[in-house]
Amino acid sequence: MNTMKFSENQLHEIRNKLMSENRPLCCDNQQVAINPDVFKLDVVSDTLPGPYAELVMTECQNCGEAKIYSAKSLNITPNN
Ligand SMILES: [Zn+2]
Repeated sequence: MNTMKFSENQLHEIRNKLMSENRPLCCDNQQVAINPDVFKLDVVSDTLPGPYAELVMTECQNCGEAKIYSAKSLNITPNN
């Protein structure tokens, strides 16, 4: 089984973009890791394959909070 992953350069770019803005902390010992897997969210559609959004998921290693961000909005295009 092949899964799609962000490249090292893309992960670096994602980290820079997410860390460059003041985002609220999830807990008092925030340790956020970017999951290298590309996630997708399907749009409900009567045609196959349907449209979908590609997502970046981050996870806090301390409290477990996971967040998703739009790859497109971060200007990241996952490679097949
Ligand atoms: Zn946390």
